[in-house]
Amino acid sequence: MFVADAHCDTLYEIAISKTRPDRCVVTKERLAEGGVGLQTFALFAGSNGPAGTPYRDGIDMIAAAPQTGVEMLTGALPDEPPRAPAGIFSCEGGEMLEGSLERLDEFDRAARLRMIALTWNFENEIGHPAYGDDPAGLKPFGKELLAEMDRRGILADASHLNEAGFWDICERSALPPIASHSNCRWLCDTPRNLKKEQVRAIIERGGFIGMNFYSRFVIPEGQPTMDDVMRHIDAICEMGGEHVLGFGSDFDGISTWPTGLGQPADFPALLDALAKRGYTQAQLEDIAGMNLWRLLKRAEAQRKA
Ligand SMILES: [Zn+2]
Repeated sequence: MFVADAHCDTLYEIAISKTRPDRCVVTKERLAEGGVGLQTFALFAGSNGPAGTPYRDGIDMIAAAPQTGVEMLTGALPDEPPRAPAGIFSCEGGEMLEGSLERLDEFDRAARLRMIALTWNFENEIGHPAYGDDPAGLKPFGKELLAEMDRRGILADASHLNEAGFWDICERSALPPIASHSNCRWLCDTPRNLKKEQVRAIIERGGFIGMNFYSRFVIPEGQPTMDDVMRHIDAICEMGGEHVLGFGSDFDGISTWPTGLGQPADFPALLDALAKRGYTQAQLEDIAGMNLWRLLKRAEAQRKA
């Protein structure tokens, strides 16, 4: 079964933390073992936010991508989902763009960005983060950026964004909102997870929600199990979300994870558990990867750049 993952921080590990590629959680071998045909590799702006060197780091992460051994799809996506592991680029933390559409153009040319998390955990030129939940929406550059992302077929990722920013995306973007690596806030109360109204808005617009495997986004305390992850999946499906659901593991960006779900080769075990829970083959194929794949194809079809 084709598996797609909407988020990992492996390039940051390799390029910035200087971790050997074979010591990372996400490796080509493990992706292949887990049936992952498409891995989204984030260019992560770093935990110093705008005070760091996010632009320079972003360029370094693109340069480090070949070290993964995974073929990066920087042109048009193939007609069918890849069988062998392939990668796409996303941006996590819009401060990397330094408030400039020229920077966006530069990154998009070099890496063909498929999604941009407008903020990480810091305020930047675009908007405000989920932590703190500032009541203000997107800033003028954020609105300008959204229009340009629409033109380029780049999805707006609200995973780290505050709520007002999320509603701005819903109102202004032609493409649907996504949350590449966030769970249900009513099951695990952290600002990084989505409220019911947000999940509903993503379902209505045909966006995407990638289930995050970080322990503290799955359950508030203790060691989570696969059952705990499946409770989030159940909750979104009960709302009618089986066509917007997928995975955003956050591998190489997380320090704790549910038992038996710590690396890409573990995806089949999760899918088996979902099958035992009563999910149909068609539902599993959608959740495993086809929902994300179809949305990426839809976004690309809209690209005018
Ligand atoms: Zn993140």
